[in-house]
This record gives sequence, C-alpha cells and structure tokens, in this order.
Amino acid sequence: MKNIIFIAPPAAGKGTQSELLIENYNYIHISTGDLLREKQNENSELGNKIKHLLAKGLLVDDDIITKLLREKLTSISSPFILDGYPRNLNQASILDKILEELNLTVDVVIYLNVDSDTAMKRALGRISCPNCNRIYNKYIKEKMPKVEGICDCCNVSLVSRSDDNEESFKERFATYIENTKPLLDYYDNKGKLVIINKVDTPNETFEEVKKVID
Ligand code: AMP
Repeated sequence: MKNIIFIAPPAAGKGTQSELLIENYNYIHISTGDLLREKQNENSELGNKIKHLLAKGLLVDDDIITKLLREKLTSISSPFILDGYPRNLNQASILDKILEELNLTVDVVIYLNVDSDTAMKRALGRISCPNCNRIYNKYIKEKMPKVEGICDCCNVSLVSRSDDNEESFKERFATYIENTKPLLDYYDNKGKLVIINKVDTPNETFEEVKKVID
C-alpha cells in the first residue's frame, strides 16, 4: 500500500480523510498536530511553549516537531499517513533525509484543494473527542455526533480545539499560504502530487482519495 502525505489548508479535512483511510485500510496515522497536542498537556517548559504557539496558530520550531516525528516514524511500520508534516520546505528536505535513513518512502502527496471560507466554517464547527481524537463537526450533517456534544465511541463530552477560533484560523491560513503551499511545487517536481478538487463532503472527497490509493 502507498505511504501518503496530506497537504491542505487548516481544517480542510486531512484528519477526517485519515480516519476514513484507517477504517477502510490498514494505515497508521501520524498527525504532528496530535503529537503536539499531547505534548502541550505535559507540565514542562516545552509543553508550555507548544501550548502558547498552538493557541496563537503559529508553527512550532522545526527541530521540536522533527524530533517528535522521527521518534514516531522509528516506532512504526508502513503503511503510514503523514498529516501535518511537512509544513514548509525545510521540513520537506529534513523528511527526505529521515525517510532515507529509515529506508522508507512516500509514494503519493495528496492535496485537498479547499478554499479559505469553507475551511474557516469547518474550523469553527469542529469538535473532537479528547479520548480517541475522533473528529466531529457541528455544522456538517455527515460529521455530527449521534448525541449532541458526545463522542459516539467513548461517551465523553466533545471539545473544541484552542486554535479553532476566527483569529487563530486566519493566522494559520496565512502561515499555510506562505510556508506550506510552496510544497505543492516541490512534490509536483518529484512527480508525487495528486490534487483533489471534489471536496464538498467527506464521503465525496474520500471517493477521490480511494481512486488514488487503489
Ligand atoms: P493541525 O492539527 O495539523 O491543524 O496542527 C495544529 C497546530 O500544530 C498547527 O497550527 C501548528 O501550530 C502545529 N503544527 C502541526 N504540525 C506542525 C509542523 N509540521 N510544523 C510546525 N508546527 C506544526
């Protein structure tokens, strides 16, 4: 099976597509956002620094996130989905080196082409389970929990992310345009980029993702 990188604006649906891939295929999901959200709960200087950056919608330093990613990649076997890394060209070249060291490859880079207004709406409606990380959305019918505000799997209250507010979203979107979008050319030049433009609903997008995987 193909190892995948997802590239998309914030709240475009990378996490949801990853969940669908895990349900339908045998993928390991590596979300650098999840790794950082776990780390920010640690009562340490590093935890506090990460918490501050995440709340503001700013990128965490390349060396911090790269260390977490390397540990994760070393501990798993393929196939994997990389969700949230690389976020800039420096991280892309670091990733190439790590993959070479670990004798791994990325086969395809999937870009979810979602516009800013749609992504903002998804961010403002997003709620997730603090226990299993499953993602729901208050405004998207397909993504609503069966009981309002409660995780279908864990029966615990759903929470909003500290960075899913309008101000933080705008910062993250601007960072995405400046730092992350240039990666599209980087992977296009390597012949690995696939663009998905059908992104109205999670299932519609997943049909397109499946075509890439299969
Ligand atoms: P995400 O869950 O992918 O939306 O990421 C949430 C936040 O975590 C981002 O807004 C960044 O602050 C941070 N983050 C996630 N991945 C990275 C990365 N590769 N490099 C730097 N910061 C990251």
